[in-house]
Amino acid sequence: MLDSIRMRLTLWYTGVLALVIVVLCVVAYFIFWRSAVRRTDANLVELSDSFLVTLRAELEDQTGPDVFRTAAQVAIDEHHFRDTVYAIVDQTGKVIISSQETPSADAPMKAARRQILSSASFQKFLASSMQSDRLFGHIAVTEAGYRAFAQRFLAKGSSYTLIILQSLHPQKEVVEEAGSLFAWLIPIAILMASIGGYFLARKSLAPVVAMSSQAGRIGSSNLDERLTVQNEKDELGHLARSFNGLLNRLSESFNRQRRFMADASHELRTPVAILRGESEVALSQQARTPEEYRESLGVLHHEAERLTHIVDDLFTLTRADAGQYPLQPSNFYLDELIAECVHSARTLAQAKKISLTFEGAAESPIHADESLLRRMLLNLLDNAIKYTPDFGRVTVACRRNGQEYEVSIADTGSGIPAELRPRIFERFFRADKARSRSESDGGGAGLGLAISSWIAETHHGRLELTQSDSTGSTFSAYLPADSGHSLSPG
Ligand code: ADP
Repeated sequence: MLDSIRMRLTLWYTGVLALVIVVLCVVAYFIFWRSAVRRTDANLVELSDSFLVTLRAELEDQTGPDVFRTAAQVAIDEHHFRDTVYAIVDQTGKVIISSQETPSADAPMKAARRQILSSASFQKFLASSMQSDRLFGHIAVTEAGYRAFAQRFLAKGSSYTLIILQSLHPQKEVVEEAGSLFAWLIPIAILMASIGGYFLARKSLAPVVAMSSQAGRIGSSNLDERLTVQNEKDELGHLARSFNGLLNRLSESFNRQRRFMADASHELRTPVAILRGESEVALSQQARTPEEYRESLGVLHHEAERLTHIVDDLFTLTRADAGQYPLQPSNFYLDELIAECVHSARTLAQAKKISLTFEGAAESPIHADESLLRRMLLNLLDNAIKYTPDFGRVTVACRRNGQEYEVSIADTGSGIPAELRPRIFERFFRADKARSRSESDGGGAGLGLAISSWIAETHHGRLELTQSDSTGSTFSAYLPADSGHSLSPG
């Protein structure tokens, strides 16, 4: 049950709400109680003032042996209220007269009052009141207790202290009534809020549930389906859009893989068909001259080589995609490697009477995978010679521009049509399929530039077609000269 977000949300919501209500109640209780005490204090001051006015007036009027007691008794009688206790204390702290002596029909009340004046709490307040002219205090006798006020006054040349106590019982009763009301109102409110919270959570999460069931139906066969975005601007809309973005990327990579597989099998089919056809012809003819067999074997060998080349390239790209190509970086001189590659390509160039020159740079130390860079350079040289007509020119140059080397291979071929330039680094792309395929050197499968570009990128560099028109093309590889780079596969 707790595995459901709906349930967890509801529980959290209910818990937080209950906590807030409880805290609010506690705070409200204290605020109410404090203001009740303040009101009682103001009332006590008023009572005390009017009591003293009456007492003074009575002292003027009264005659007889115990004028003070008689006047005090009149004042007590006049100001006597239920829940209020008066006591007049002399300088020694002795209670001269108190309202407990007032006849009361309510016997328990009278007993309670007597108990108040003899309580330890009252005695303590009495002792403190002797030290000051005005004092407020609390007498903890009954459950609610009494609020006490003591005020010193002068009468007939002597100093006395008037103490008035007022019960906090009515205020306590109000609080208790409110408490018992809240005791059943709060659980009902929390219950109703949690039911509401549950439905709210259910409603808010409904689009998520819908999205997850929609997402559950999307598989490799319907990867073009997308989640419905109900509100572009809210969080769920954002989630749906992110998920759709992921699906877009997935389906793109799926399609790329599919295309790659289709192209790969298509490319492999031709040499395999030639191998089969040639071997079938050679086997079917009984009497063949050794020259004819040689010729057939030559064709077989040539196609097998082409096949090996394609399979090798495919394997490289697959490992590069998976980030599993093991790079073996070492320190060497780039200019030396280029010179070596130019030397290897010389035979090819000579066959087409192409002049192949290398404008070497000064020492160019580099930290890279030598065999991969060799592969890239040979691919570019191979293309330059392949797509340059006889008696043309191929120029290789290596320069250092700041923190990078620029290796450019320029040819005098017929160039690459402008509309095809953006695609030449794609896998299996050939600008002129018929021409490439019929090349006597075994025409590539359109993987050479894709691999070369990956090689440059895996060395934190790049490969670009910097110029191409009817006078020829120039490919430039930019490689970081800084050997501090850590090379990452793929
Ligand atoms: P391929 O094995 O067919 O040469 P690449 O990936 O090396 O494949 O090259 C892709 C295509 O780019 C080639 O088929 C060719 O049409 C074009 N291309 C590459 N290099 C050159 C160049 N130097 N001059 C003209 N076209 C080129």
